[in-house]
Amino acid sequence: MKLFDAHCHLTELEEYGKAIIEAQELGINRFIVNGTSPKDWQRVLKLSEQFGDKIIPAVGLHPWDILDVDAQNFDLLEHLIKTNRNAVIGEIGFDRWKPHIKNRFDEQKQVFDIQIELAKKYNRPIVIHCLKAWGWLQKYLHEKDLLPSKFMVHSYNGSSEFIGKILKRGGYISLSSSILRLNKNKDILKRMLKDDGINRLLIETDSPSLSPFGKHDINTPKNLLYILEEIAKIAEIDSNELAEITYKNGLEFIKND
Ligand SMILES: [Zn+2]
Repeated sequence: MKLFDAHCHLTELEEYGKAIIEAQELGINRFIVNGTSPKDWQRVLKLSEQFGDKIIPAVGLHPWDILDVDAQNFDLLEHLIKTNRNAVIGEIGFDRWKPHIKNRFDEQKQVFDIQIELAKKYNRPIVIHCLKAWGWLQKYLHEKDLLPSKFMVHSYNGSSEFIGKILKRGGYISLSSSILRLNKNKDILKRMLKDDGINRLLIETDSPSLSPFGKHDINTPKNLLYILEEIAKIAEIDSNELAEITYKNGLEFIKND
């Protein structure tokens, strides 16, 4: 079985080398590793140099970090994107959950817009974080071509109806352990498995956050296997088949068109 961890932050794990090897032994052999702020970007890129094409680096400014940046940071971001052909852009997006930014729509939009322009200029996929801010993201889905052609909404926890809007624009949806706790998870999975949704489904750990075993547990990428099996149970689909689908979709997401 081969598995693709579509979203994680392995540079935040103390023993990331060990975690990667452990995960590989279970067949988890691709990881999109996200950097969230300037101090993170170089570490993520180094990790991908160290482990080759197993690690797909993502560099971007997370909405939680937007208040600490200036124009120079965006110059650096553009330089890193330009000089790292395999880098995708993430994680970026909108957040109305964290108190320090929940009412800062203008700043969040400004930072998001700069980054989607970079994605279009260098033809890179983006990784979107959206927490309690579906109305803000919706504006980008209404109009054609506002978002770059390839994007994923990671750790999806919106409604099953909103999925239709994302799929219509060609977006991917990545599911983490948080889907296991949602009441509406059966509806979400039903929607994802029909029509074109099946070609846009991804799974992720978001390691070291979002452990399926509780808030205080450190999530490592080997837990992707557990997440896969639990999602397969809810969706009533064979876990090998789900692994194959999500692996193929992951490769498609990172492919240079
Ligand atoms: Zn993340």
